[in-house]
Amino acid sequence: MSDAGDLTFDGRAFINGERVHARDGRTFDDISPIDGRCLTAVARCAAPDIDLAVAGARAAFEDRRWRGMAPAARKRVLIRFAEQVLSCTQELALTETLDMGKPLQYARSVDVKSAAHCIRWYGEAIDKVYGEIAPTPGSALALIEREPIGVVAAVVPWNYPLIMAAWKIAPALAAGNSVVLKPSEKSPLSALRLAELALAAGVPPGVFNVVPGLGVEAGSALALHMDVDCIAFTGSTRVGKQIHVMAAQSNLKRAWTELGGKSANIVFADCPNLEHAVQAALQGIFFNQGQSCNAPSRLFVQNSIKDEFLDQALRLLPNYQPANPLDAATVMGAIVDVAQLDSVLRYIDLGQSEGARLLAGGARVHPVAGGCYVQPTIFDAVTPQMTIAREEIFGPVLSVQSFDDTAEVVRQANCSDYGLAAAVWTRDINRALGVARALRAGMVHVNQFDEDDITVPFGGFKQSGIGRDKSLHAFDKYTELKTTWIRVDSPL
Ligand code: NAP
Ligand code: MG
Repeated sequence: MSDAGDLTFDGRAFINGERVHARDGRTFDDISPIDGRCLTAVARCAAPDIDLAVAGARAAFEDRRWRGMAPAARKRVLIRFAEQVLSCTQELALTETLDMGKPLQYARSVDVKSAAHCIRWYGEAIDKVYGEIAPTPGSALALIEREPIGVVAAVVPWNYPLIMAAWKIAPALAAGNSVVLKPSEKSPLSALRLAELALAAGVPPGVFNVVPGLGVEAGSALALHMDVDCIAFTGSTRVGKQIHVMAAQSNLKRAWTELGGKSANIVFADCPNLEHAVQAALQGIFFNQGQSCNAPSRLFVQNSIKDEFLDQALRLLPNYQPANPLDAATVMGAIVDVAQLDSVLRYIDLGQSEGARLLAGGARVHPVAGGCYVQPTIFDAVTPQMTIAREEIFGPVLSVQSFDDTAEVVRQANCSDYGLAAAVWTRDINRALGVARALRAGMVHVNQFDEDDITVPFGGFKQSGIGRDKSLHAFDKYTELKTTWIRVDSPL
């Protein structure tokens, strides 16, 4: 696979180990944000298709074709699956780039690699996680085991299609469940290929199904389904709340929601390396065109260094100009679609009309005709009440606020409905730890923003969601705890 022109796509669903059309034959067009071209027609799965996929997943769970395999055998299958993903790096990276507009270099080095690593890591964990024996009196033995929960529905967003899918399916499959995955209608293609690779690696038919479709059709059919045991959702807080309602309205399926963010990045005057802090602030907000849930979109800079900080930031900004995502050197690609582009531009208008100072960017640009591109944008003089300081923009827009006092900035940072990530930059270990402990966020960074590892849980406080992806903690979402009491009549 050498370039984008060689790729053809199959937009059919993947149910019970086979590619199938939606039962009513309906499709939707998958449009590339690079230039507006239609990549392929994709199956528009709706309730009857979801019923079919869930029934297949249930049958696979009941006959134990996957969970009944020896742990070491399931481990080998998932490791083979990860190897298959890596062996298709170029194809999957191109698919990701064409489908949602991210730079090809990052699709290769970050998305495909990290998704494969995630699948391998959970595969390796399968035969290394033990149950427990409780410290009960000698007249009884209590075994505490984790059992797979059953049929897991995974509903994921478009910003990191492969990684978001891997964070759900890898621990869910490793735990022995059957999975029905609904990718976003904006980027369904890589997930469909994942299912083919899983089958080729030895995941039995029916165990991993992919049903592309619209959120309000396929997504809600899964959330409302009476035979789905668990729904693992990543997406907006608005839809996440609906997921919990639908879970409660139907069968009280377990609902886990990884949601939005408005992360605070706090830079004190004694930050150990200002140049590094500036680079990390820009990289954090502009990576993936600002479409990252944990993006540090609220920057708080101590007043005494603010001018110097912003001067350095403006000098780096030319490095982030949007260009064709397929070009090898591109660092800033396309916004996922016209609707998201319009939403980002509307927030930029709001920033200006509410009195923030537009320091740089703010306009749509056209490095490729017909595509969705916006300049990296920085607003200064932002106040906590402004819409751009409160709402998640999910685009390359940085809001800068300034502060003098530690307690004041912690209060401002915590003044958010969200609590996903945060960062603090200071040379003072006491201040670093004090601020880190006071921040209401699931992940706090000190003097860096880019560390990431599959061994570390990912998720947030407050309206950033419920539950954690990554690490062994993810197994909590996809297993039920079972205790077995055994009477012991010891003759001794
Ligand atoms: P979204 O609109 O909430 O969609 C997420 C998923 O839910 C998509 O598959 C979507 O399908 C589906 N969906 C939409 N409406 C639905 C409904 N009524 N019932 C069931 N499913 C429905 O979010 P998005 O715009 O794709 O993603 C961006 C959001 O994800 C941001 O808020 C971001 O912060 C968050 N995010 C969070 C994390 C985290 O780990 N905390 C990670 C990444 C992203 P369609 O796309 O087909 O409509
Ligand atoms: Mg697309």
